[in-house]
Amino acid sequence: MDAFSDLVARWRGAGLDAGVEALDLLFPVWCAGCDQPGRVLCPLCVAEVSDPVLRAIEPGLTVWSAMRFSGTGARAIRALKEEGRTGVARPLGGLIAGLADTAGWSDATLVPVPTSAAALRRRGYAVPELLAARTGHAWSRILRVRGRAVADQRGLGRRDRERNVAGTFAVRARPAGRAVVLIDDVVTTGATLREASRVLDAAGARVLGAVAAADTPRRISPGAGG
Ligand SMILES: [Zn+2]
Repeated sequence: MDAFSDLVARWRGAGLDAGVEALDLLFPVWCAGCDQPGRVLCPLCVAEVSDPVLRAIEPGLTVWSAMRFSGTGARAIRALKEEGRTGVARPLGGLIAGLADTAGWSDATLVPVPTSAAALRRRGYAVPELLAARTGHAWSRILRVRGRAVADQRGLGRRDRERNVAGTFAVRARPAGRAVVLIDDVVTTGATLREASRVLDAAGARVLGAVAAADTPRRISPGAGG
């Protein structure tokens, strides 16, 4: 079997659910961190980027991020968000799962922060959902984006981000009493997580906290959610 038919066989074998990740098989496989061939993110880079950050977004809402948004970690996030390297979600999802376990949130339902329709069209996949699916934990699309489009958060300061996301999320179903943990790709000001948490809380969910792939306290993140 030549390389191409092998690729097609893997594509078909991957099935519908793994369709997004199968896209990554079309790229030659190299590490998103150090460019070594063979792995989407090699064990050395996973070890290097793993640097848990705990941040209080507001009283009663803390977010655990698997790494800082810099160096190798930033390259891995860019590969996942901007270069279609969806396979990177697997090692990052593993790191996030470890954080949720450490925080005592293993049994909570992960709720991905919804992606704007524009971002979904541009990428073809929702990064927070992809990460949630790779944690191995239960997750649910409880939140959705309300009709109005969320403007790109890039280049906005804290106040503008708060204003930008206010009223943008709604629940699909009443999560009454359910213990939930928000999951996002990059945390910047925390405005998005605060708003998502507020909506879940108002709908009766018990928001235990949030987890993310990367924490960036400064406004340097390309493609950061908020
Ligand atoms: Zn590497």
